[in-house]
Amino acid sequence: MKFGGTSMAGTERIRRVAGIVKRQQEAGHEVAVVVSAMSGETDRLVNFCREANPLYDPAEYDVVVASGEQVTSGLLALHLQALGCKARSWLGWQLPVRTDDAHAKARIETIDSEALLASMAAGEIAVIPGFQGLTEDNRVTTLGRGGSDTSAVAVAAAVKADRCDIYTDVDGVYTTDPRIVAKAQKLKSVTYEEMLELASVGSKVLQTRSVSLAMKENVRVQVLSSFIDENAPAADTLPGTMIVSDEELEGLDMERQLITGIAADKNEAKVILTRVPDRPGAVATIFGPLAETNINVDMIIQNVGREHTDTDVTFTVPSADLDKAKSVLEEQQAKIGFEKMTTDPKVAKISVVGVGMRSHAGVASTMFKALADRGINIQAISTSEIKVSVLIDADEVELAVRVLHTAYGLDGA
Ligand code: ADP
Ligand code: ASP
Ligand code: MG
Repeated sequence: MKFGGTSMAGTERIRRVAGIVKRQQEAGHEVAVVVSAMSGETDRLVNFCREANPLYDPAEYDVVVASGEQVTSGLLALHLQALGCKARSWLGWQLPVRTDDAHAKARIETIDSEALLASMAAGEIAVIPGFQGLTEDNRVTTLGRGGSDTSAVAVAAAVKADRCDIYTDVDGVYTTDPRIVAKAQKLKSVTYEEMLELASVGSKVLQTRSVSLAMKENVRVQVLSSFIDENAPAADTLPGTMIVSDEELEGLDMERQLITGIAADKNEAKVILTRVPDRPGAVATIFGPLAETNINVDMIIQNVGREHTDTDVTFTVPSADLDKAKSVLEEQQAKIGFEKMTTDPKVAKISVVGVGMRSHAGVASTMFKALADRGINIQAISTSEIKVSVLIDADEVELAVRVLHTAYGLDGA
């Protein structure tokens, strides 16, 4: 069971969570619980680091931001004890949860589950702070924002859990963010691949890495709400969203729409290089140095050349890396040979995702037409087998998501 920040925000909510956990145990399960910091807490801790030094040491940043989850894990154990349950916390270093040393975005390598399994078998509820781990040389790490989802899936895989229930502030995965589109509909099930695409293009309901880990380790993941009635039944019968394999989906949901979901991401910025020489190797001189600086380039368009002498290249990078990308490209201007660089941080990427598009034509054209009819200009396009993404002006995001939600027939009552 994993509980997110909103679910853990304050005494009343942690008490409610303790009740939900207790009921799950009473239904006959051995339970491990992964918790997030209280909502807003991680942001507050990140700010302290920035105030201390804008170029902070990521290893010390991890020491600071990992503390939010330490607090909630201890508090949940206390609340469980108050309800008469046996419970104890297991901090990342105590298990330990081993990660690589990429501070602030570490990857879990192994979880030692021996002590954990023994304690669970003895009837004790194990409470584990999410988001945190330990390097080989015993330094604290964190897994990147939203990382408690990944901790939960990793713990589930390590103890070979029957299921990993992700309790959050919405009662499942919807066709789009239900906070943006009131007519969004809850999905009974989503495939791993679809969830992976949705998460990676901006649906923050699950961290992307948690989905790829679940897919790799075959962990059954369910998303459901922690804001449920005291007397609600245990999670086995709750109507959350199940993440399933392709084959399972076919048996479950016959009436699925062509498009499963729509996601928006405002965290990208556009870069345009004008008059790049139109010759072999030109784009390699642009993207090579960006890759070396660990900047992830997403959408790319190379325009038709002017009389085969030069061309414009447009691409997107994460907004957080825009300044770094600008300075790398300025340094390389002579070598790349572009005339001018312009950048635009006010863009957003809208993506439609669905396994149905593998076997159906016309998904992209529906998208382009629906946006055109509302006067929304498309600045770049990218596709995968089960996704189409377009880049638009950031001011038009909410309108675009609503228009597409209607165009693909996803609106509920
Ligand atoms: P937690 O603190 O529990 O980890 P998050 O804030 O990380 O919760 O994720 C839950 C939020 O994800 C919801 O409140 C919702 O606004 C947002 N969200 C974005 N896309 C979707 C979607 N397709 N379905 C459900 N929620 C979504
Ligand atoms: N507390 C961390 C964050 O806010 C991890 C998480 O909640 O998943 O990013
Ligand atoms: Mg989250």
